[in-house]
Amino acid sequence: DDRQWFDINQCMQTTLSMVNNKLKYICQQETRFGEVPRVYINVGKITQIFTNLLINAGQAIEATGKQGQIIVKSWLEDEFVHISVTDSGCGIKQEHLDKLFHPFFTTKPEGQGTGLGLSISFGIAEEHGGSLKVISKEGVGSTFTLVLPTTGPED
Ligand code: ADP
Ligand code: MG
Repeated sequence: DDRQWFDINQCMQTTLSMVNNKLKYICQQETRFGEVPRVYINVGKITQIFTNLLINAGQAIEATGKQGQIIVKSWLEDEFVHISVTDSGCGIKQEHLDKLFHPFFTTKPEGQGTGLGLSISFGIAEEHGGSLKVISKEGVGSTFTLVLPTTGPED
C-alpha cells in the first residue's frame, strides 16, 4: 500500500476540478473547507472515493430534472477528519439505506450503473481505519461523510 501524509482538502479540490466538466452543467458547487490536520492516506484511493461520491451526487441532482447544489465540507471532530458531500438530489429511499454499500446494489437502469462505487469506497475507508456514512431523505437530498483517523503508521 502506498500511503503518505496528505492534505484532504487539497485531495478533494483536485477531484472537484477533475469532475467539474461534468458537474458544472448540473449544479452549483460550494466548498467549506475547515482547517484540518494532514491524514495518512493512499491519495489515489481516496480520490476514487471522492470521484464516486461527486458523480453519484451529480446523477442524483440530474434525476430531479432541476438545477441543484453540491456542498463539500471538512472539519476535525474527536481526532478524526470528516469530509462530507451534500447534494440536493433525489435522495435515497429509507429501505435502500442498509443495502447501499453492498456490492452490485444499484437503482440505475440495466447497463447504467455497476453498483460497485459505494461498496469499493466503503472498503477503502475501512482499509484506512475510517468509515463512510450516509444520511438521506427522499426528495430532499443526501450527505455522504468520509471519516478518517489522524493517526499514522507509527501510532
Ligand atoms: P451506481 O452508481 O453504479 O449505481 P453506487 O455504488 O455508486 O453504484 O451507488 C449505489 C446506489 O446508491 C445508486 O444506484 C443510487 O441508488 C444510490 N445512491 C448513491 N449515491 C446517491 C446520492 N448521492 N443520491 C441518491 N442516491 C444515491
Ligand atoms: Mg456510482
